[in-house]
Amino acid sequence: MKVVVMGAGVIGSTTAYMLTKAGLDVIVIDRRDRPGMETSFANGGLMNPSDSSPWNSPGTMKNLGNMLFDANSPLKIQPSAVSSMIGWGLKFFANSTARMHKANMIANIRLARLSLETLRAIRAEEGLTYDQTVRGTMRMFPPQGRMSEFLQMCREMEEWGVVFEKLDKAQILEKEPCVAPVIDRYAGAVLFPDDESGDAHKFTNEIARVAQAYGAKFLMDTEVLDIKRGSTTKISHIHTTKGEIQADVFVLSLGSYSPKFSSRLGIHLPIIPVKGYSITVPLNGWQGGPTRPIMDDGLHAMITPMGDRLRLGGRAEFAGYDNAVDIKEGLRVLDDGFRMLPELKDHVNADSVLNWSGLRPMTPGGPPVIGPTRYSNLFLNTGHGPLGWTMACGSARITTDYITEGQLTIEAVEPEDYAL
Ligand SMILES: Cc1cc2nc3c(=O)[nH]c(=O)nc-3n(C[C@H](O)[C@H](O)[C@H](O)COP(=O)(O)OP(=O)(O)OC[C@H]3O[C@@H](n4cnc5c(N)ncnc54)[C@H](O)[C@@H]3O)c2cc1C
Repeated sequence: MKVVVMGAGVIGSTTAYMLTKAGLDVIVIDRRDRPGMETSFANGGLMNPSDSSPWNSPGTMKNLGNMLFDANSPLKIQPSAVSSMIGWGLKFFANSTARMHKANMIANIRLARLSLETLRAIRAEEGLTYDQTVRGTMRMFPPQGRMSEFLQMCREMEEWGVVFEKLDKAQILEKEPCVAPVIDRYAGAVLFPDDESGDAHKFTNEIARVAQAYGAKFLMDTEVLDIKRGSTTKISHIHTTKGEIQADVFVLSLGSYSPKFSSRLGIHLPIIPVKGYSITVPLNGWQGGPTRPIMDDGLHAMITPMGDRLRLGGRAEFAGYDNAVDIKEGLRVLDDGFRMLPELKDHVNADSVLNWSGLRPMTPGGPPVIGPTRYSNLFLNTGHGPLGWTMACGSARITTDYITEGQLTIEAVEPEDYAL
């Protein structure tokens, strides 16, 4: 069976690997020269089921108004993006009730845990390295912050397998002595020992390399122009800058661009781009940074160790498809990093930092859209928002299961969690 996977981000490349391992004949199409060059390029690197709570928790929604009118807020809406996000925004609000939020959180946890388990198995089998850490993640809270509310949520997540540990200041310093100069900024922290991290771009290229060794073909520098119907229930081929490509099955994994193509087929995916920023700092041998990802819950900022680099990230901006790097936002990310790790200032060389932005493909509820469509040979694996790296391996497994088994047979997840 010949399968075309559209998109070689972390989602499409991992799906290609799984499908090839299942014995299918796979071609991946991507407009860039290498896999993982768009949103999967320089994300936060967190592989964290612990972050499964969708952004529209009832608590966050209460503060939304204040955040939008604060010039330094980590969340922004550009006026030009407002009209395109009204329908999505209404769904976002509809998903912010306590009941919907909890249901979406559980769906995310299930998928994220399946993903982590799958990633660990692939890593062992294929011997992959991608600057990973396997020491958990630590979220630190300011004295006036929402630590007790967060701990309540941790207890709910614990029922679904998320392990956590509450830390006081002394325990924070034991785990990460690098925050000693700013320890008074924090009241405590929560450690998630099962979380991991790594460079999603490196992983994407590694998994693409292994998929190719098993027989997958990656057709790069090739833009998908259209998906063509053969009948009302079947896709016949895709139209690309390198001509027509036919297949038995098609998988749509174009990240934030998936809705542009699906809508022409009458499938209106509730996915919009949400811009985020990261800064990558080469360490040139300095070893004084954190040994695991650390997050500042008050600043909505994070620092992830990545081999001989640190990745700093955060912020969310509704700016439509504008993905231009914004120096000011980059500097804010860097500044937040300095507030968490003041010593970093002495190790940043403005000429060697990578200032990056990417578009998270966000659904209004949180969980991605995975599975079959009204076309018998078109499958979706897209809309992973802020958790695409965390969810990639599980999403690839689910997609492969739908294609090879004709239905979802993996017991760890429910079909309705990810269906359109
Ligand atoms: C600042 C930031 C921090 C983040 N941090 C984390 C994190 O810590 N942990 C985590 O789990 N997730 C994180 N994410 C989210 C994660 O990066 C995304 O969910 C994930 O990269 C989405 O992968 P994807 O394959 O769906 O999309 P992409 O990586 O964007 O892949 C889509 C692919 O489709 C291709 N494409 C698009 N249109 C066409 C076309 N017409 N023809 C051919 N090819 C096309 C693109 O070239 C691209 O390669 C973060 C995101 C951002 C922006």
